[in-house]
Amino acid sequence: MIERSTRPFARYPYVARRFAARLPALRSGIEDRRHAVVVVGGGIVGLATALALAGHGVPSVVVEADDTVCVGSRAICLSRRSLEILTRYGAARKFLATGLPWVGGRSFYRGEEVLHFSMPHDENQRLPPMINIQQYYIEDFLLEAAESSGLVEVRWQSRVSGIHASQSGVRLSIETPVGGYELDAEWAVGCDGARSSVREAAGLRLRGTSYEGRYVIVDLALRSARQTERLAWFDPPSNPGSTILMHRQPDDVWRIDYQLRDDENPETAALPENVIPRVASHLRMIGEREDWSPIWISLYRANALTLETYRAGRLLLAGDAAHLLPIFGVRGANSAFEDADNLAWKLALTVRGAAREGLLDSYSTERVQAARENLRQGMKSTEFMSPPSFGFELMRTAVLGLAAQQSFLRPLINPRQTEPARYADSPLSLGDSATWSAGPAPGAVAIECPVTLCDKEAPRPGHFTELLGPAFTAVCFTESGYAPADLTVLADSTRAAVPLRAVGVATRQPSARVPACGWDHTGRLTALYGAAPGTVYLFRPDGHVLARWHHPAAQAVHLALQRVLGAPPKEDP
Ligand SMILES: Cc1cc2nc3c(=O)[nH]c(=O)nc-3n(C[C@H](O)[C@H](O)[C@H](O)COP(=O)(O)OP(=O)(O)OC[C@H]3O[C@@H](n4cnc5c(N)ncnc54)[C@H](O)[C@@H]3O)c2cc1C
Repeated sequence: MIERSTRPFARYPYVARRFAARLPALRSGIEDRRHAVVVVGGGIVGLATALALAGHGVPSVVVEADDTVCVGSRAICLSRRSLEILTRYGAARKFLATGLPWVGGRSFYRGEEVLHFSMPHDENQRLPPMINIQQYYIEDFLLEAAESSGLVEVRWQSRVSGIHASQSGVRLSIETPVGGYELDAEWAVGCDGARSSVREAAGLRLRGTSYEGRYVIVDLALRSARQTERLAWFDPPSNPGSTILMHRQPDDVWRIDYQLRDDENPETAALPENVIPRVASHLRMIGEREDWSPIWISLYRANALTLETYRAGRLLLAGDAAHLLPIFGVRGANSAFEDADNLAWKLALTVRGAAREGLLDSYSTERVQAARENLRQGMKSTEFMSPPSFGFELMRTAVLGLAAQQSFLRPLINPRQTEPARYADSPLSLGDSATWSAGPAPGAVAIECPVTLCDKEAPRPGHFTELLGPAFTAVCFTESGYAPADLTVLADSTRAAVPLRAVGVATRQPSARVPACGWDHTGRLTALYGAAPGTVYLFRPDGHVLARWHHPAAQAVHLALQRVLGAPPKEDP
């Protein structure tokens, strides 16, 4: 968590839009309409949740205390999974146009290279494993996409100061510079960050570990031809005893993080007169000769904390309000995207009355499980970056000292970058009842692969995940590309309440008459999914596998959906 941050020292290329406060139509101090969903906080997870809800056709109002998107040193590394989510909601274009893609990195010990790693990447992928992009761009692009959906209203300079939740809804007190008011909603999603007031109103507490070690985070303006990769130096000659991380960002902005020694006073160490010589010494060591200037200097301390549940009745928690993850391994914002993606479809079905409220408990179960895995990995990375005890320090020195010669030690230095969540114990998934030679098991995300997309337009190159929309999708492997008739009928009959699509994947070149399908022109997709004609994978609206069968009847798919939706709500007497 950022503990202290400076005002910017240098001009930086991004100009933040500022937004005025405004009041909605009121009756006796209460907004004159009730909202289905209010999102508290318009940071990454708040805007992503609103965007995803809009993708599922549900309007929301976002209440944000600040007058603009975040500025300062925050997230920069956005994962392939986050980009996939953005792609599904039609919002990835600007991220890809602005962000800097990268696939790996290098670590050095006392000047010697001890690790050169690559993240999973092959010719099947549509998206890079990671891009670097400043958090202000991330929020700005999310905001643009949310606004252009026509279903999201963001209220700036609007601070939630009181929350009263009942069994049937939530009343929020909002303070703005132009007056206060109250607002009613069926559901409130707390996306209000590390000091969440929604979390407090829900009576929930974060639990876990807070680390003592402090990092100085510096963003600086520097022109350099150095490529985009993750660079780490342990005990470098320029700053003996320290650990330094370096990342390129768009617009000739660089991020340098370095660890403070235990005997250093963090407040003094973060003063520009102490930071500048250390950064200068590092830049000299790596051969950077151009002029540079700091933009922001902040102090960071790692937390590894989560709530035990992300739901308290009508209040739901997401992002940093629900869990605080160390920055090492870049899981904070990336897991916030997964929170938003997981929650939005469940909330949309609940708001529409198509699913029982209990579906929202699965949001909590699945995302708490994901946070625990993120914490496990994030803590390992943190303890390697800043050893919390003498024993850890000794172990790290031994590993770093031997890694250049002993390849089996190098995985211990690998930064364990974020990976997509796998909901292995999800109450929603239907476990495999047959054996599979390959393919994503229930709970896992889709495996990417090139396919030929055949629809009304001429066949064109594409990728498997383009067949999955923000809906349940039954992907049916067939020779012809026609989805089986009983599944098409099921999809048509449920569509009004539950968005279900039946999509064929042709294992042979399909005829021009097939209305819309994918063609596995390389045969790789069929192999990657352990599939044969007859195989069906049922994907959830967030792209995770719900169930898979070798030869299902439509009834099996129907029952799998019923398991998600719960028994239909009883009619009022
Ligand atoms: C130095 C640093 C580097 C990082 N690098 C990465 C990285 O590379 N990759 C990664 O995935 N993550 C990274 N993270 C983590 C990432 O920045 C956070 O996890 C992410 O910002 C969380 O988003 P959020 O929307 O949950 O919370 P926030 O970004 O904190 O947003 C919360 C929003 O709620 C608003 N708010 C608060 N209280 C109220 C209220 N009462 N009423 C109305 N609005 C309110 C705030 O103004 C704010 O806009 C990094 C973090 C730091 C500090």
